[in-house]
Order: sequence, then structure tokens, then C-alpha cells
Amino acid sequence: MHTVITRFPPSPTGYLHVGGARTALFNWFYARHTKGRFVLRIEDTDSVRSTQASADSIFEALEWLGIDWDEGPYFQSKRFHIYAEYVQKLLDTGHAYYCTCSSEKLDAMRQQAMATGGKPKYDGTCREKQLCKSNDAVVRFRAPLTGTTIIHDVVKGDIVFQNAEQDDFIIQRSDGTPTYNFVVVVDDITMGINTVIRGDDHVNNTPRQIMLYQALGAELPVFGHLPMVLGKDKTRLSKRHGAMSVTAYRDMGFLPEAMINYLIRLGWSCGDQEFFTREELIEKFSLEHIGKSAGVFDMDKLLSLNADHIKATPPRSLTPHLLPFLKARGYAAEEGHYLDQVILTLNARSKTLDEMAEAARFYYEETVSYEPAAADKFLISDALGPLTLLVQKMETLSGFTVAGLETVFLSVMEETGLKLGKIAQPVRVALTGKTASPGIFEIMEILGKNQVITRLKQAIRYIA
Ligand code: GLU
Repeated sequence: MHTVITRFPPSPTGYLHVGGARTALFNWFYARHTKGRFVLRIEDTDSVRSTQASADSIFEALEWLGIDWDEGPYFQSKRFHIYAEYVQKLLDTGHAYYCTCSSEKLDAMRQQAMATGGKPKYDGTCREKQLCKSNDAVVRFRAPLTGTTIIHDVVKGDIVFQNAEQDDFIIQRSDGTPTYNFVVVVDDITMGINTVIRGDDHVNNTPRQIMLYQALGAELPVFGHLPMVLGKDKTRLSKRHGAMSVTAYRDMGFLPEAMINYLIRLGWSCGDQEFFTREELIEKFSLEHIGKSAGVFDMDKLLSLNADHIKATPPRSLTPHLLPFLKARGYAAEEGHYLDQVILTLNARSKTLDEMAEAARFYYEETVSYEPAAADKFLISDALGPLTLLVQKMETLSGFTVAGLETVFLSVMEETGLKLGKIAQPVRVALTGKTASPGIFEIMEILGKNQVITRLKQAIRYIA
């Protein structure tokens, strides 16, 4: 069996956006599923728009998503000698020719075509002139004039193009630089790429690319063109719909596992299953179940999947993702047993890591700040008696565990004749500043005896 070799070739003209990340993931998971190889290539031939900073931000986003590459990153800007060699190959075999038509002449050609309702295309003036290399000559591909070119697309099925519609496109400009479709094909051939999965905005480039493969005598890769990602209003996803950059989702508190799960499901399915771990996706991802219709990016679905992944991730694996959010709030948080416990009380109630860090505030704050409404309602003179009794009993409590604390509460309930709620709510506000929180017995065990007693005393002073 041959080894599947896929690739991701972003143009470094900005950050990695969610649509690009989805394409990368489809190629990466297919390579991993088939135990193949995944190649990273930076398409930076447009020297005006390409920047190293963009390339670096793309690497950063890929690394965050956990997408690693087996080869590369290759930079097209370092491969001009290879492209020149392939231009020469096509010239030598008669599949390309020099053309010296001026831009005025080309404009006139275009205008005439438009006036007669035809598709603007090169009229072949220099096709049979056997011109030699010169300073103002471009190199054109000698495209077939008749017949059809067919993409056997694994997503869309066969797409047929009439060759008469194509023209002798330029493969090398007069300044010697190669053009886009040409370098893509040379790279894909020389890198051994046999599976090309990309956005369907590239469908129209594909017949030209197929012609180049044929002229170079190379085997065609498998092509699959993914439908675009749309916003909720069914227009192409753009900034209007929200954040586009992958790292913006990291900064909002999404887990990479949730992001890859969401993006893969945006165009691929496996029965009704929504939640996938990375390992499951590697096991199950295939090209057979890629959807033909566009995926709609839905923030609510992504949030709910993120909540599921937060819940399913063991504390120690969640810690490195959560720590930046805790540190950004100035908490002295670090990996360890305390943080593990904190996470376990919050992981079923947080949609994002940012939300989780905010909910963890009381675990790290030196002095609890009370929400005014919570304090007004529960830190009142009625609470003085039970709070004072609780402090007394806790001071002599030997083990500070959920079980021990439950006994303390029971005896205070007996002595005061109050129901649990009447005691628990003031305690909750005293410990967390809020009226809603994880279970107070768990919180107390985690905060520990000193902190709990300090906070209850603080509340008593506040009431008094
Ligand atoms: N560089 C192209 C892009 O960023 C990808 C080309 C391809 O996949 O063939 O859209």
C-alpha cells in the first residue's frame, strides 16, 4: 500500500483563520489516520504581502492545535531554482513557449473578447512563433485546445471543464518569477503529495494544475475540495461573524481539543456522534464522510463542545491551558493538588477557561469581596449566631473533611433550630462572596481550616 502524503500550504499574509485551520485538520487527521505523512509548506512567493511574522503566527496556531508536521516547513521563496528547472522542462518538451505580447496588446485582446461576449483569454499570438528567451518575454503554458479536463473530486464527484475555455496561462513572468498554479504543482510533485484536500475556492485553479501534471508526466493526486465555512446568516465566514483567528479562540478560553473537534465536525461526520477526542478522530477520520454542503460556524455549539471537553479533561491536562487565565488575574496559582481540587469543583460548570478562572477567584483571593446584593441578603444579624457557633466548633475539629464538616453543621442546626439553607447561604457568601458556587462542603475542604475560619471571622466582623 502506498503512503498517503498530505500537505497544508498556507500563504503567510495574516494569522491562521478558522477556515484554514479546518483545512489543515482534514489533511492532518487523514495523514494520521492512514499512518501517512503531513507536509507543511509556506506559500510566500508574493513577497509584498508575505511576512515572517505571519508565518510565525501560523506555526504558533498549528502548535496550539496540536498539529505537528513530518516535513517542512518548506518556503516557496527558497525554491525558485526548482521552479526554473521545471519551466525549462516544459519549454524543452514543447509544453511551454515564450511570449512577448505587450500589455497593450493583451488589454486589447481582453476588450475584444468582452465586446463579443467571449471569455477573456490569450489568443495564442506567440504560440507558434518559437520565440527565444528575452528580457520582456513571459513563459506561457501550451494548454490543450480541445477535449475536457476532469477533476475526480472525492468530495464533489466529477467536475468537467472544457479545455477550449482555458487559455495559455503564464507560468513565468518576464522578471523570471513563477506564477501561483505552477509552483503549487511543482511543489506537490516534488514533495510527493498524493492527496490534496483544500477549500473549494481552489476548484477553478485545479484544471490548470491537472494540465500541468499531465504535461510533466506526473501522476495526479487525489483531490478533495471542501465547501466553505459560512456564518450563521449563510454568507462566507468573515470578521463580521466574530473572531476569525485561531489564537483568538485560545485567548477566549477554548481548549484546542474542543476546537479541533468542532472544526472537523464542520464538514465531516461519523453517525450522530458530536464529541470526539483527538485519538478517536485519528481512528475514525476518513475522506468518505465529508459533507457536500457548507458548514455553518455556530458559536453556541462550539461553546457547548468546549464545556464538554473541559469536563472530560483530567485536571493535570487542563492545568497548562488554565494557568494563563489564572495568572492574568494575578492569582498565585500553580500546578498541584490544590489546583486539581479547584478544577474538579468547577469543570462541570464552565463553558470556557476564562469563565473557569473567574469562578475560581475566591480560591485565590486573600480577602473575599462580597457581591453587594449577596451581602445585603445574607450577611445580616440573623447570621451572627450560627456563624459564631460554626467558628467555635471548627476550631476544635480535628480532620477538616467533608464528613467532619457535615457533623459540625448538623450540630449547629440542632442547637439553633435553623434549616441547613439558613446557615449554608451566609457561609457561602462569607467564603466566596457570591450566592452561587460549588458545594460549600467541598469548598471548605479545599480552602482548609485556616482560610475558612479567617473568612467566617471576616464575615462576622462585617456584620457586626
Ligand atoms: N496557499 C493557498 C491558500 O492559502 C493554498 C493552495 C492549495 O491548497 O493548493 O489558500
